[in-house]
Amino acid sequence: MTDEPSRITATIDYGADGKQFGHLLVPHSRNESAWGTLLLPIVCIKNGQGPTMLLTAGNHGDEYEGPVSVLKLVQRLRAEDLQGRLIVMPALNLPAMRANARISPIDNGNMNRSFPGHARGTVTQRIAHYVWSVLMPLADVVVDLHSGGHSLNFVPSAVMHELPDADRMARTQAALEAFGAPVSLILEELDAVGMLDTAAEDMGKLFISTELGGGAMVTPETIAVTDRGLDNLLKHFEMVSGAPTPPERPTRMMTTPDNAFSMSMADGLYEPLVELGEEVRAGQPLGRVHFVEEPDRTPVEVAARIDGLLYCRRVQGYTRRGDTLAVLTQDLPN
Ligand code: CA
Repeated sequence: MTDEPSRITATIDYGADGKQFGHLLVPHSRNESAWGTLLLPIVCIKNGQGPTMLLTAGNHGDEYEGPVSVLKLVQRLRAEDLQGRLIVMPALNLPAMRANARISPIDNGNMNRSFPGHARGTVTQRIAHYVWSVLMPLADVVVDLHSGGHSLNFVPSAVMHELPDADRMARTQAALEAFGAPVSLILEELDAVGMLDTAAEDMGKLFISTELGGGAMVTPETIAVTDRGLDNLLKHFEMVSGAPTPPERPTRMMTTPDNAFSMSMADGLYEPLVELGEEVRAGQPLGRVHFVEEPDRTPVEVAARIDGLLYCRRVQGYTRRGDTLAVLTQDLPN
């Protein structure tokens, strides 16, 4: 159903100059509202000649750095200071965000596993389809802001994937460096099917993602990294004048090699032994899983399988078999 036109309509005109605050009207018939509509916020800022950037946040409803930072951006950025067009969606999965959850309570939709979506699918699938069929084709650059949500916490980072096209790879890497997060990561996804990332890359767009913190909260530090990163991206693409502001310490271009991910092999209480951002050696214990219902049982130790930086760590204490507990990253060889 991807070739059908979207049933979603916009209250703004993407071709008009100036700053427009509006909504996408997503039909949502339900018990409490037979002819109901979900109003998804959208902002378009357009002026002069220049590239179009599609900037999405709240793809997962419990990841807050992106939404907070883009709300600040659309308030401070004046149309006359922009060259090109910036289309911003602060809460791609608004129903999930209202529920303080990663996925939508309406249809159990995980937005970032729903692309390219369906014109006549569930609410989540329809939103994904609109982004894919209407907004993405307008864009030269697509930026989708993520962080760890309830279950994970990350060293703030801008993220890309290994790309088959060397030129696009280099241009994406340059954008990551301009963003200026503590880590710039070339990430190997566990499963890239249905992701906004994959849809944008398949369409040939320059695509940048992030993992900006997590724990279903924001901190002054993670917001500062995000605010500066977005300003820097707009400057990097010459949509706003001036040079990107360099970070206090140069960003580290890193990768996730084989054996970077460690998962729990047991249900239990996770005791991390390493702080986020610390360097570890292969074999070093990263944490232990304790058995609260079997106090006499020896905890299971989870050891690093490679040397690296502890880039991502599980947040919640209670852990189930198969949960990601830690991700290690290594500096990209020069
Ligand atoms: Ca996410």
